[in-house]
Amino acid sequence: MASKFAIRTFGCQMNEHDSERLAGLLLASGMEPTEDLEEVDVLVFNTCCIRENADNRLYGELGRLKELADRRPGLKIAVGGCLAQKDRHLIRERAPHVDVVFGTHNLANAPLLLARSEREGPITEILDAPDPDEPPAHLAAPLRELPYAAWITIQTGCDNSCAFCIVPSVRGREVSRPMEAIVAEVEALARRGVLEVILLGQNVNSYGRDLTRRAPLFAQLLRAVGEVEGIDRVRFTSPHPKDLRPETMAAMAETPAVCEQLHLPLQSGSDRVLAAMRRGYSARRYLERLSAVRRAVPDLAVSTDIIVGFPGETDEDFERTLDVAAEAQFDSAYTFIFSPRPGTRAAERREDFVPEEVVAERFKRLRVVVERSALAKHEARIGRVERVLVEGPSRRNPAVLAARTRQGKIAHFAPGDPARPPAPGALLDVMITGAAPHHLRAEATGLVTPPRHRSRIPVAIR
Ligand code: SF4
Repeated sequence: MASKFAIRTFGCQMNEHDSERLAGLLLASGMEPTEDLEEVDVLVFNTCCIRENADNRLYGELGRLKELADRRPGLKIAVGGCLAQKDRHLIRERAPHVDVVFGTHNLANAPLLLARSEREGPITEILDAPDPDEPPAHLAAPLRELPYAAWITIQTGCDNSCAFCIVPSVRGREVSRPMEAIVAEVEALARRGVLEVILLGQNVNSYGRDLTRRAPLFAQLLRAVGEVEGIDRVRFTSPHPKDLRPETMAAMAETPAVCEQLHLPLQSGSDRVLAAMRRGYSARRYLERLSAVRRAVPDLAVSTDIIVGFPGETDEDFERTLDVAAEAQFDSAYTFIFSPRPGTRAAERREDFVPEEVVAERFKRLRVVVERSALAKHEARIGRVERVLVEGPSRRNPAVLAARTRQGKIAHFAPGDPARPPAPGALLDVMITGAAPHHLRAEATGLVTPPRHRSRIPVAIR
C-alpha cells in the first residue's frame, strides 16, 4: 500500500502554490494524499515568516504533534519554506521530533530528503541560493487544489528592500520564468478546462527585468496569457505601486480576460513612514497611480495592505494613513499590526516601537475607515447583474453557495434546487441584492456555463 502524505500550509498564495508543487512531487514519488492524521506517514509543514504569529502557530502545532510522533515512530515530519529558511537549526532545537528541514531553494528535493532521512536519520538542508545543478521547484508538476482555477508562479524572489520585510532574505533575488514557459503552462491548463489563472510574484510589475532590459515584459505577459483560448479570467498579485506602469494599465484595460481587480499595497499614508519603510513612493504618487489605473480600467476593484504601528509612526503619521485610506476608497484592505522580523531594518528600531495599546487603538480606527469604503463600494453594486465563478458552499454558511465576481468579490446566493446546486467551476449570472463589508448577497438569474475542467491531476509543465 502506498504511503500517505499531508501538507499544512501557512502564509501567502505563493506558499499555497508551493504546497501544490510539493504535493505533486510527493505524488510523483509514489505517495498518496490524505487528510487523516491517524493514517498519515509523512506530514509536511510549508511555513511562513512574514509575521510573528505564523512562527508561534508552527511551533504550537509541532509541540502538539510530539505525542503523535511518540505513538507512531514511523511518522516522518518535515518543515520547509520561509521560516525553515530563516530559522534553520532552531527548528530541530525547538522540535527534535522533526525529521527533515528544507528551505525555499530546495523544495524540489523534499522527496529525496525524506527518503535520505529514512537511512540517515534527521536532516537539515538549507541552500542560500538556488543550486544551478538542481531543477527549480517551479518545474515540478503541481497537484492543484482547484480544478477550475490555477496559481501560476511567474517570478520568485524580490529585489526591493522594504524595511519591514524578510522576503528578500529568504526568497532571494528576483528570478523570472521565461514567458514562453508560462504561456505553455496556461495553455496546458486551459486544455484541461481551467477558466481562471492567478499570476504570482512578489513584485509582478518587475517581471522580466532579469530577462531583458526591454521592459515592460509584464504588460506583454498579461496580453499573452489573456489571449490563451479558454482562459476567461486572469488575475495577478502583487504589483508594487512604484512599478505600476502605463503599459500595464493599458494591458489590463485592453485584454478582456484580465479581471477588473488590482491589489496595490499602500502600507502607510505618511510620506515620512513610507520613506522609512523604503517603499519608493509618496502618498501623493500612490494616489496619482491609483487614479490613473482607475481611469484606464472602469469598474476596477482595488484592495490594499496597510501596516499600523511601524516604528516611529506618530499620531500625525497615522492620521495621514486614515486620510489616504479614506481618499483611496478601497474595496477591501488587509490591515496588519507591525510585526518585527529579526534581520530586517525595522526590527532594529526597538526604541521607536509604538506602544501596543496605541497600535491597538489605531488599528480599530483604521478598520472603521476601510470597512466604511468597502461597504459603500459593495452597496453601489446592488441591482447589478454580475457573472460569477462558483466556488462551492460558503465556509461560514454552508447553506449558501459562494462565487467570485470579476472584481474578486465574494457573492453568496441560495443554490436554487438543493439537489442540483451549480457545481464549483460553473459560470453563473447573479443579481446583487445585498451588501456587507466583506461580501455581497445575490440571487441566481441563470446558468451560463457548466464547469469545463477535468480531474484534479498534476499538469506537466516545461
Ligand atoms: S516588494 Fe517589499 S514587501 Fe514586497 S516582497 Fe519585496 S521587499 Fe517584501
